[in-house]
Amino acid sequence: MDNSIMHNKTIAEIITGLNAGEFSSVELTQHYLERIQRLDSTYNSFISVTDEAALARAKAADQQRAAGNISAFCGVPIAHKDIFCTNGVRTSCGSKMLDNFIPPYDATVVENFTNAGAVVLGKTNMDEFAMGSSNETSFYGPVKNPWNINTVPGGSSGGSATAVAAHLAPGATATDTGGSIRQPAALCGVTGLKPTYGRVSRWGMIAFASSLDQGGPMARTAEDCALMLNVMASFDPKDSTSIDRAVPDYTTNLTQALSGLKIGVPTEYFEEGLNPGTEQAVRDALTELEKQGATLVSISLPHNKLAVPAYYVIAPAEASANLSRFDGVRYGHRCENPKDLRDLYMRTRGEGFGDEVKRRILVGAYCLSTGYYDAYYRKAQQVRRLIKQDFVDAFETVDVIMGPTSPSPAFEFGAKGNDPVAMYLEDIYTIATNLAGLPGMSVPCGFVDKKPVGLQLIGNYFDEGRMLNIAHQFQQATDWHKQSPEGIE
Ligand code: GLN
Repeated sequence: MDNSIMHNKTIAEIITGLNAGEFSSVELTQHYLERIQRLDSTYNSFISVTDEAALARAKAADQQRAAGNISAFCGVPIAHKDIFCTNGVRTSCGSKMLDNFIPPYDATVVENFTNAGAVVLGKTNMDEFAMGSSNETSFYGPVKNPWNINTVPGGSSGGSATAVAAHLAPGATATDTGGSIRQPAALCGVTGLKPTYGRVSRWGMIAFASSLDQGGPMARTAEDCALMLNVMASFDPKDSTSIDRAVPDYTTNLTQALSGLKIGVPTEYFEEGLNPGTEQAVRDALTELEKQGATLVSISLPHNKLAVPAYYVIAPAEASANLSRFDGVRYGHRCENPKDLRDLYMRTRGEGFGDEVKRRILVGAYCLSTGYYDAYYRKAQQVRRLIKQDFVDAFETVDVIMGPTSPSPAFEFGAKGNDPVAMYLEDIYTIATNLAGLPGMSVPCGFVDKKPVGLQLIGNYFDEGRMLNIAHQFQQATDWHKQSPEGIE
């Protein structure tokens, strides 16, 4: 086996190669670790690399395979976003606050992958506490987009997207509160899926906005996302919002023909603010799907314009409550020599949190305070209901909704840093999905100025299988997902 092409394999191809004895998990893991060591000083996509543990797991996986005990991800290397707690391995959430935090337990998602035999290469970089769309807010420094290192990879799961795009891992876990799987997947030219709220356990996934947060896979193909979702999705009694519903095999229907499929195309997703090159790539993708037998239906999501404002009340409100636990008392950063309890709280939080996190805590606490709760928080929840109803109505007539994932391709570092509202508008097409709890996906569909563009698919509740089927069929007819950034091959 020529080592130089091992990192070009998809997860499905890796599984085939391992089964055929073309290479061992130890060889594969060593190869990825060597690439991370050699290339990641440029990209900064990993916060921690767990090389010793990875090699030990790979060795164990090779032994299990030899003994005929082959679990779904036996010996397959992956990376976890540094928001998922990993037993004995630092879990920072991209924050100084948790720079010294070593969890005593695994998140359910991590445990599911361990039980499936996966090898964990390390923990990926992210915006601090998953707040951001550019990966510029990480305490560990920005992540660079492998397609153009002067541009951002998107956020908050920019480390996972970059690791996959630069072939430093064949797949990575990620989380999406308002777009953080789909937007970085789009900007880095990889495939990412945010499942229905409640499909993937949030236990051990550090909370940002609990009613919106959802973990999901990022990989190079829809087929790989299906393989990963098979492992990630589970009913978890430890997460009270986890849904007790059988997990189908998401690979079963991948090759089903698309004839008869009705695709809703919201007029609101093609209005002012959309980059013309992005629009063209998305329209071409829709034409390709029409060729495969799908019908395009123009629809309206009239409350979409209220999604960003409603989100920026609800998400900060939940964040201000969730982040109150970081007080210097139990774990994480603690200031030096506090004078009294108040000083401990104030200096610990003042030192431990970055600017964007502080901004969200301030906004959230304000919206929840007496006198403003009704005007902001209650109103935002009412708007959320209207946004959800738009989708429920649309799914009466269409099977899936499609449009761009983000309004434009990757932007340069610092371009939106001083303008939070411009940054928040990056998620104008993704946020409504989280407010409604629906599954969403981004699939590479073209380039603008050599920068990748993502096609977004929004499905009905628990319709991940159909979305993966559509994405897979699209990827059988196109090769956008097969392109690699220059120098990566
Ligand atoms: N960009 C959005 C935010 O900053 C969404 C982040 C996310 O999905 N984690 O809140």
